[in-house]
Amino acid sequence: MMLTEAAKKMPQHISKIIVLDPNQNCSASLVGAEQIVGDFKDKNAIIELSKKADIITYEIESGDSDVLKSVETNAEINPSPNTLKIIQDKFLQKTFLQDNSIPVPDFIEIDSIEDIQKGMKKYGYPALLKARRDAYDGKGNYKIDSENEIQKAYDYFKGKKLMLEKFVPFKMEVSVIASRNTKGEIKIFPLVENIHEKNILRETIAPARTSIEVSKKAEKIASDTLSVLNGAGVFGIEMFVTQDNEIVINEIAPRVHNSGHHTLQSGKTSQFEQHLRAILGLELGSTELSHNAIMYNILGSLDFEGEYKKVEISKNNIFLKMYEKKISKPLRKLGHLNIIGSNNQTIDQLLDELSQIKDKVEVKSIWLVFMLWIVNSSMALKAAIALAGISILLLALYGADVAVSMGNPDHEGFLPLDDMQRGMGLGGPAIILPIIAFFISLREKSKGLGGLIIISGILILVGGLAMVLTPAPEGVERNPIMLFAPAIIQLALGAIKIVKS
Ligand code: AMP
Repeated sequence: MMLTEAAKKMPQHISKIIVLDPNQNCSASLVGAEQIVGDFKDKNAIIELSKKADIITYEIESGDSDVLKSVETNAEINPSPNTLKIIQDKFLQKTFLQDNSIPVPDFIEIDSIEDIQKGMKKYGYPALLKARRDAYDGKGNYKIDSENEIQKAYDYFKGKKLMLEKFVPFKMEVSVIASRNTKGEIKIFPLVENIHEKNILRETIAPARTSIEVSKKAEKIASDTLSVLNGAGVFGIEMFVTQDNEIVINEIAPRVHNSGHHTLQSGKTSQFEQHLRAILGLELGSTELSHNAIMYNILGSLDFEGEYKKVEISKNNIFLKMYEKKISKPLRKLGHLNIIGSNNQTIDQLLDELSQIKDKVEVKSIWLVFMLWIVNSSMALKAAIALAGISILLLALYGADVAVSMGNPDHEGFLPLDDMQRGMGLGGPAIILPIIAFFISLREKSKGLGGLIIISGILILVGGLAMVLTPAPEGVERNPIMLFAPAIIQLALGAIKIVKS
């Protein structure tokens, strides 16, 4: 998405953007890219893309590198498919770095459980058993803390290709966004500090709170890495700062990286523009930071999956970017915000600012918001809603007889009642719900909460009013449960979602 937006600002170099993505109406297509719907590994889709485009690049490393290699005659591909192939396999990646004298944690290839036992003897506990391929956000790692976890760890990966890595008791996780253009020019963005939550990046602090020596060392390692990797583009290089201030590379991403999103506002060139400049063979932009910055990821809440309330924040130095994903899932990256020290704020001041707004940008289920709205509303409204809720509950629990006879003691069984009786019998507690629901719908609409509440609110209003106002035809028995079905459905839906939240 953000690459497409950057490309749109370079019409003199880029005439058209075509994106290959498995999800129809993906984020990039929403901001102006033409889309081919297909899996990243779909051979035909990749061939189609290569026939339509002059240059291919990627912002996810799960493409099929062999297929990409086979279409190099149709289009220029950067970073090169060979580099992608090395990076996709953590063992090949680390071997490549080690062979080029770039520091990495100690590691060995694992083919059997005996290899793990040998490795543990060599490294001591803990150590990390890692899946070599298709492993992101820590999902492909198993930390082995003791001997009796070896079998469990081995079984966990069920026949996948594995490696064992020595545990690094790091002081800090850091990363560098490094860029290299097709002509071999290399430019490195300043070292940043990364804070993870459940193995997912949550915050990036730019620049990292390390000494100048440590930053320079890391930036030099990033530059050395790019000088041995083939191809052009932006690379996200994740590293550990060890207890004695050494740097080792954890892993390389051959693409724009989440820890580089701060560059959208913190410096002169964003990582997205830089990536395009690199693959187009243009002179690379300045990588200097103009301001301190903090990037904070907006992640889906752990406790619900579904539509979420629009995240909003308005402050001069805060830049919110949502990726227009409709559904929130636990820890799904839905957007990010950059807090920029445009008035020379220190990192501590920016962190303080972040702590004050964190709860404002929390992702909430629309149903939870609905409940919170009720909690925060006036006492009179709360009382009315409670009354309506109780009446509906009675309808649902005890059947219509009880609810109807609440307002109409003479009534036996279901309707018909005459108009007057109907108005009295149900117009008391039960009619309050449709009216309130309707007004809540209008209010929630103005908060951008989507169509469901509105539609159900209108249904309730119409259903409820029809119940009370229209006379039943002669001799017809009406079951109020049927007439209030929309209200009950709304309540049931709400109840289900509320439990989920
Ligand atoms: P990965 O998916 O390999 O990037 O790892 C996810 C997270 O696991 C990293 O961000 C680190 O916090 C942790 N990790 C990975 N490798 C090691 C290691 N060798 N020693 C200590 N922690 C590690």
